[in-house]
Amino acid sequence: MFGRAPKKSDNTKYYEVLGVPQNATQDELKKAYRKSAIKNHPDKGGDPEKFKELSQAYEVLSDPEKREVYDQYGEDALKEGMGSGSSGGNPFDVFEQFFGGGGFGGFGGHGHGHGSARNRKMQGEDVKQILKVSLEEVYNGTTKKLSLSRNILCKKCKGKGSKSGASSRCPGCQGSGMRVTTRQIGPGMIQQMQHACPECRGSGESINEKDRCQPCKGKKVTQEKKVLEVHVEKGMQHGQKITFEGQADEAPDTITGDIIFILQLKEHPKFKRKQDDLYVEHNVSLTEALCGFQFVLTHLDGRQLLIKTNPGEVIKPDSYKGINDEGMPQHGRPFMKGKLVIHFNVAFPETNVLTPEKCKILETILPGGASTSSSEMATDDCEETILRDVNMEEELRRKERQRQQEAYDDDEDDEEPGVQRVGCNQQ
Ligand SMILES: [Zn+2]
Ligand SMILES: [Zn+2]
Repeated sequence: MFGRAPKKSDNTKYYEVLGVPQNATQDELKKAYRKSAIKNHPDKGGDPEKFKELSQAYEVLSDPEKREVYDQYGEDALKEGMGSGSSGGNPFDVFEQFFGGGGFGGFGGHGHGHGSARNRKMQGEDVKQILKVSLEEVYNGTTKKLSLSRNILCKKCKGKGSKSGASSRCPGCQGSGMRVTTRQIGPGMIQQMQHACPECRGSGESINEKDRCQPCKGKKVTQEKKVLEVHVEKGMQHGQKITFEGQADEAPDTITGDIIFILQLKEHPKFKRKQDDLYVEHNVSLTEALCGFQFVLTHLDGRQLLIKTNPGEVIKPDSYKGINDEGMPQHGRPFMKGKLVIHFNVAFPETNVLTPEKCKILETILPGGASTSSSEMATDDCEETILRDVNMEEELRRKERQRQQEAYDDDEDDEEPGVQRVGCNQQ
């Protein structure tokens, strides 16, 4: 298992730390760890060093493989061999794994609260809110006023909850904020559960009814209505966050979380945004595509842009033309702008609009005009064919259905229809 034979080192310490004999069963180990870990948890005023030792000892001895290495070679061998798979020595991870997340219900608002020293403030929750904005609003920039109500520490009692500022230990939990219940789950097996004290909701204190603060009724917090001005800056992106630090609900002994607005860009009927570029669709007739055109486009700030082709310029179907510096402003550098890109769709005349007479005229104008349709080509040896419309989507669906059917019917015949079709097309 190891590159070189490790030295023999102390291999009894872990058993001593947990206070169990060297031949202790897994059950005995668990019981020993449970008892000591609760007693020595730093959140309950225990010694962090002792707590760390306990977790380390339990982590090793509860894993049969690690225990075997420890029994044979001692602690040093494990330090060499352990790498992945170890909790990296975080005693709180071991504790949480053992008791399940939030073992001390109410400790640590974010789940990363573990490891908090005694009396350390908890981290309050952040409030996240979607803020819908139009393309015009992120093009021009805007300020939105949003009213909200939130909890703040009671001004009268400054978050103490009592008139006198005094509080006494909760009789339900003797001030610890948590309760332990035990129940028998089998012969000789007792399950011990930790949960927040229901009487004080984990705070560990109670306030005499006569001493209760009036405005907050002893709850320590009151509601506040507030208007936030959210500045949506030019060029902000979809998904970008605007943070109001420390503006979320206040609570005693808690670092107030943030209110975070997450921008959500609404669809625009005309413009599409791609990073700093704007895309717009424009339809022109075949005549315009060939002979030129101009049109007026109203921009997101209301300006009227005159867009026109250069003399002699031909617009091809499905082509793109761009105008520099008429796209979206860059966030933080609003004078730098992206492109405005126009995607052109060319509407061709419908069938039968062009009569043979008109075609004759077109043939004299358009290049390649000496059309093959009416010329005296030698066609005697050819077979007549008929052109029909093909709906490509329907065609693909039909082929897919056919393929599935064939795969169902007979695997070997898969290739043949394809081969035949190629042969036909080459005629
Ligand atoms: Zn109050
Ligand atoms: Zn209590």
